[in-house]
This record gives sequence, C-alpha cells and structure tokens, in this order.
Amino acid sequence: MSDKTVKLLNPHLETARSDYLYHLDINVANTRDTSELQNRFGDVRVICMGGTGSRMRQLALHLRHILVVPESGDPVDLCERGNRYAMYKVGPVLCVSHGIGSSSFSVVLHELIKLLKYARCQDPVLLRIGTCGGLGVPPGTVVATKNAFNGLLRNEHEIAILGQRVVRPAQFSEDVIRDIIAFGVDANDGFQTISANTMGTDCFYEGQGRTDGAICEYSEKDKMEFLQKCHDLGIRNIEMEASMFASVTQKVGVKAGDVCVTLIDRLKGDQVTITIDQKHEFEQRPFFVVGRYIKRLLQQ
Ligand code: URA
Repeated sequence: MSDKTVKLLNPHLETARSDYLYHLDINVANTRDTSELQNRFGDVRVICMGGTGSRMRQLALHLRHILVVPESGDPVDLCERGNRYAMYKVGPVLCVSHGIGSSSFSVVLHELIKLLKYARCQDPVLLRIGTCGGLGVPPGTVVATKNAFNGLLRNEHEIAILGQRVVRPAQFSEDVIRDIIAFGVDANDGFQTISANTMGTDCFYEGQGRTDGAICEYSEKDKMEFLQKCHDLGIRNIEMEASMFASVTQKVGVKAGDVCVTLIDRLKGDQVTITIDQKHEFEQRPFFVVGRYIKRLLQQ
C-alpha cells in the first residue's frame, strides 16, 4: 500500500521526543512509538469540524445513524479534560468543535493535523461544517466553498509570523468540492446546495461590513458597495474561518472542504432574525450533505 500519511512541514518535530497536544489533552509520550495512538485513531479517514461542541455531538449522532456504526448511548467527548474543544469519534470519523474564528480554529487544526500524523491515518479529509451569512442567496442555502477570500478580498490568507506578514494561497481541494456536490446533494433535499466562493473574515461586525456593531465608521452605501464587490467576485457566503482553513490544509497537503449553511442574506440586512427552531433546522442541512459525501467516500 502506498504511504498516504500526513507529512508535517516542521523539521523541529523530527527531533522532538514527545509532543503534548495540549488543547486536545492528548499526550504523545514517545513520538518514536505512537502505536497506542495508532490503535485509537489510526482508522480515522475524515475529521468534521464545526463551531460548537453541541453541534458536533449532534453530527456524531447523525453519522452514527447513516454510517450504521453499531454504537449506542451518549457519544463520549474524548477531549473533555482539555476543557476547550469537544471531540467525538464515530467509526472512522472524528467530529471536533473549533470555536469561533480562525484564531480559535487554527489552534485545534494544528493539533489535529499532528494527531493524524502520529496516528498514521491514511489519506484523511478535513471538513468544516458551519453557519455563515449569505450573499444574494436565500437563507438556508448550503454553500460548498470553491475559493476562500480573506477580508481584503484576496484569495489568500495573511498571518503575522515572527513580526512579518506571511501570505499563503487559500484553495480547497477541487476533488473534495466536486464530490461533495456530486454525492452530497439529493434532488429531494428541499434546499439548494451550491459551490461558490467564500469570504472568511476576522470580525463578525466591521470585518463583514455590518452597520450594527459597537463601532461603525462607514455608511450604508459604503457597506452595500463592498457587499456588491464581494458578490461580483463570486462570493456567496461570509464566515470567519475559510481562508485560514484552506491555507493551512493546502500548505500541509491535506484534502479539505468547507460546507456552510447561510442564516441570512446580507444583501437584505445585518441582523440574524431567523427563529431558534429555524436555525436548528438549517444547521442540520450541511449534516445531510456531508453525511452522504462521507458515506460514499468510505465505500471507495
Ligand atoms: N456567521 C458569520 O460569520 N456571519 C454571519 O452573517 C452569520 C454567521
């Protein structure tokens, strides 16, 4: 079998004897012998990630059902002691919470990619399943990200490293996007799933051009011009993680995709006004799409 394990881009780790994945509370006591981690996590093919622990628990229950995983009882949070992120394992799928925004997400993403490496997982796929604002699409639309733009409307991710501005490309895997649309969508879904560009910002309010934050120094007209510019770039949804997620996974060479449901059409307003029941119903939609995609992936 060809080696399809994850290759880290960090020479320092090659000489590290141990590695504590602190936020996951997973200790790699001996990096030269990771057999215990391989036993626990070596079968993982997919990691699904989303903002909250409760949503990831629900996703775990959904996947248990559609993948026919013979487990019963309450899903166990494998990272409970870390007290930051929640992790549930359903057969070969991990469901992990990442909090809000790129900075929270990048912490758990680095540690999960290292976990994939130590556990010698083969050809893993990372998926974000989230909520977002829409641009010119009805609330409840599911968007699989094509290209990820940052808040500067560039198809890249920008990060400060050692006091320097480092810019990296932010592309998701084309075959993952293609297969999510091909195998995840059902004609009877009763909602639309599209593939389009996504803007990932560092701020829910000013960063996404809202006029209802604690600070706003632009007019409604400025805002609408900005949102129209986004729309002209093929951006159909706005969230807070896509460009970081695309750039980190692209850099490490791990397949990834971002599938989010829109809660609002930003061309029509700033405040999320759907009811809690509607929000819960919308949040299930990416579960259905991603669930079918994963089922198909695991059959290959
Ligand atoms: N999440 C976001 O980042 N923006 C929205 O408008 C809704 C959800």
